[in-house]
Amino acid sequence: MADRIPFADLGALTRQVRCEVDRAWAEILDEGWFVRGPHVGQFEEQWAHFCGTDYALGVANGTDALTLTLRAMGVGRHDDVVVPANTFVATVEAVVLVGARPRFADVDPDTLLMTADTFRAAWTPRTKVVIPVHLFGQPVAMDALCDAADQRGVAVVEDAAQAHGATWRGRRVGSFGVAACFSFYPGKNLGAFGDGGAVVTSHAGIAAGIAGLRDHGRADGSRYDHTALGTNSRLDTVQAAVLSAKLPHLDDWNAQRRDVADAYQRLLAGTPVRWVPSRPEAEHVHHLAVVRVPARSWVQGALAEAGVESGIHYPVPCHRMAPYAGYAGGSLPEVERAAEEILSLPMFPGMTTAQVTRVCDLVVDAAERASELARVG
Ligand SMILES: *Cc1c(COP(=O)(O)O)cnc(C)c1O
Repeated sequence: MADRIPFADLGALTRQVRCEVDRAWAEILDEGWFVRGPHVGQFEEQWAHFCGTDYALGVANGTDALTLTLRAMGVGRHDDVVVPANTFVATVEAVVLVGARPRFADVDPDTLLMTADTFRAAWTPRTKVVIPVHLFGQPVAMDALCDAADQRGVAVVEDAAQAHGATWRGRRVGSFGVAACFSFYPGKNLGAFGDGGAVVTSHAGIAAGIAGLRDHGRADGSRYDHTALGTNSRLDTVQAAVLSAKLPHLDDWNAQRRDVADAYQRLLAGTPVRWVPSRPEAEHVHHLAVVRVPARSWVQGALAEAGVESGIHYPVPCHRMAPYAGYAGGSLPEVERAAEEILSLPMFPGMTTAQVTRVCDLVVDAAERASELARVG
């Protein structure tokens, strides 16, 4: 098939750091230090510096970053946690895993992000934490959300797993809440060669709590003094070395994603394919390129037939999933409407203008034909 266009291209990013990773790998084999060790501490320092926080704590994955943060904050059985319903399931899963009750918030109809208003509508007197998700790579309007949370005595924990390096009014995500959680799953904007995650915070108590919990509840510096019920959730040495090799490229890769997004936005203007817009205060890092289309499954089929990969993030909102439906408070019209229409188009650093143009030609043609059929039929 001519011109297959992949959804993402991890291989190209791997090639850019291959030499450096080979060198680090040789070093690690020579040292024979595979868990913890200097590479982990070095990456943690770099990541905290990049995010503008005092601490970064490497953990095994993004889901653990969320659960360990909530546990370190003492969130549990008697607490509610407000989350947007249109997120990757891990955000909600973490809340339930620590024994707390998720309260689902609706979202802004344009950006599809939680807002101060949708947070307030989901708030209860038991609400201890709100988790804004910087979905698709776009930061939530953090000044308004943090003000609303402050007014109600609610702590903000950012889920930044899709937004490495994004900024709101010039400030990096990760530095707004009391803590922020990142995933380094391979497909994320900063991805390891396996699973990985981190929590960033400037709160010394939360940092110390997570440092213990991720390592079997060990007291600081001790070997067999387990003072808390912990778990095993460490970022391993190899992944830390990979992340250190990739981090210097992150801003450039995000800038390339923005160029791709600009091309999409320009080419889709005035068509039935609606680009999910960003706010002028936000520097979006376009983890995903999301549009809204009529007759989605038909449009997606037309793309697939032409060799263009696409995805849906996410087809079922969390409050409609079996394990979490019991926590649903009622309908969430914007989340539910979006779930029927959203389609994620190919997006990766280095995607060419010719590729973007071809995707746009195909998706616009399919959407126009779908609209035409709807009019006639
Ligand atoms: C990827 C992701 C996570 C979970 O990260 P894992 O490393 O896969 O556990 C959490 N929240 C969001 C929004 C994500 O996209």
